[in-house]
Amino acid sequence: METFQGIPVSPGVVIGRVFVLDYTRRRIPRRPIGQGQVSRQVARLDNALRESIEDLDAQRERTEAELGGEAAKIFAFHLGMLADPTLVDPIRRHIEDERVTAEYAVSVEFQRLAERFGSMGDATFATKVDDVWDLERRILRHLMGERSTRLKAFGDSAVVIASELTPSEAASLDRDKVVAFATDTGGRTSHTAIVARALGIPAVVGLGGVSEVAEEGDTVIIDGDHGMVILDPDEATVREYETYTERMRTFRLGLRELAVQPAVTKDGERIRLWGNIEFPQEIRAVLEHGGDGVGLFRTEFLYLASDHEPTEEEHFQAYKESVELLSGKPLTIRTLDIGADKYTLEQAAQPERNPALGARSIRYSLQHLPGFKKQLRAILRASALGPVRVMFPLVTNPLEHRQARMILTDVMEDLADEGIPFDHELPVGIMVETPAAAIMASTFAREVDFFSIGTNDLVQYTLAVDRTNERVASLYSAAHPAVIRLMKEVIRAARRRGVRVSICGEAAGEIEFTMLLIGLGLRSLSVTPSLIPSVKRVIRSVEVAECERLARRVGSFDSERQVSAFLRDRTRAVIPEAFDGRSVE
Ligand code: PEP
Ligand code: MG
Repeated sequence: METFQGIPVSPGVVIGRVFVLDYTRRRIPRRPIGQGQVSRQVARLDNALRESIEDLDAQRERTEAELGGEAAKIFAFHLGMLADPTLVDPIRRHIEDERVTAEYAVSVEFQRLAERFGSMGDATFATKVDDVWDLERRILRHLMGERSTRLKAFGDSAVVIASELTPSEAASLDRDKVVAFATDTGGRTSHTAIVARALGIPAVVGLGGVSEVAEEGDTVIIDGDHGMVILDPDEATVREYETYTERMRTFRLGLRELAVQPAVTKDGERIRLWGNIEFPQEIRAVLEHGGDGVGLFRTEFLYLASDHEPTEEEHFQAYKESVELLSGKPLTIRTLDIGADKYTLEQAAQPERNPALGARSIRYSLQHLPGFKKQLRAILRASALGPVRVMFPLVTNPLEHRQARMILTDVMEDLADEGIPFDHELPVGIMVETPAAAIMASTFAREVDFFSIGTNDLVQYTLAVDRTNERVASLYSAAHPAVIRLMKEVIRAARRRGVRVSICGEAAGEIEFTMLLIGLGLRSLSVTPSLIPSVKRVIRSVEVAECERLARRVGSFDSERQVSAFLRDRTRAVIPEAFDGRSVE
């Protein structure tokens, strides 16, 4: 038995069997293997090469028949490379000498090849670099495809253990098989963690080297409540967890009964509780848990869960389905927040040096206008079917917002010309998730219809702490006084100008923050659907005046630790059972 402590990111406990997944698109981890596994890795490589040759051959024949020999030449070049021992032999040798996985050897040797081509100072060779990456992706796809076949044959209760899992990989996990996952890297608000909560499966991240030790097929306990992963547990531990799981099941069932009760404080203040979603199907969970609508639809997952940019029709169908499922409750659609840890295949091929500060979110949309317009058209078309709001992510300066709005106006004019109906009064808002937007909230408040505070990024950019990096996870906290002050300013600016303000970062779903957020003046919170009942429970147990006193007290603290301890104690005093239920006896 071996226990690992990591960061709990999605609650619940499961006992399952290890399924090792060691490929990520961004960075192939160096996963050492035992001498006994070398021949298996070489065989995997040979298989992937053979399959790549087969599909290149087929593609060459098809292209030649349809477009002629000239167009088919590109495949001949790729095939030539795969037949070239000076490329293939070093990959095999790399596996044998360094004792690493086939994926890792492929990625290192292709990187070398690309560098060689790129540094030849010859334009013809430089253009071949793209072919090198193309070929690398093809081989890796075969290695990865083999993995999904393996997963299909794995049986149920698969616990995916990986060094790193991208949000799109997490979103594409087979939900019928995978019951939990655990990764070496990651932080509480990394998008992979958010996807785990959306899927409703327990997850623990930031575990260090768990993927190096886990053996496929072994029994494993994933404790998403406490951030623990236990490999090969003994019988007593399994029994202890079975008892705990039963107790938590009763506790969570009790919470679900709250679904039909309104989110009203003891002194009668109504708080709107909305759900954050990544996929339209999650709306069922929002409604089941008694949510008032959707405060954040992360539409980039339409992109990440498929292999192409969504068409206008694909966007529209997703929004239409959402509006219909909500039957009159509002849907807040955020335009694509691509970039940082949510990157497309195209971005993965040309990674930015510092993607969190790069061409992400609204910047990306403004640089890719045809795609942006496509999305806005679909949002507007859906707005004719029910209450829809649109918001722009990661706005840092008013010009960006104005530019985005101008494009929206253009699209509205096009639709009007074409006689396509839409809501002419569509509310337009921004995410306040950068210090720049928060500090300039009173300026933005003159121009927008609503704000949605995104603490996940606001914390990352205010505290200079990467939200996906487990090494600095202890520094990442929405309870930092700097973050609380920024939120307070945003809420104050919004109220002064009569602009609606809500919050949709993960902090909104953490019960320790509920009283503070109400005390700061927020009246709508948008949270992971499954967390709606527990937040509602706090709301129904407190009075606004008490929350305001608490917020004033918090304002006098100067350290994150003081704030966190105070919020925890006060919340525990209000609903002790939420905390009792969280500990394993
Ligand atoms: C946020 O940053 O708080 C937010 C809700 O957006 P995302 O988590 O998708 O970056
Ligand atoms: Mg964000």
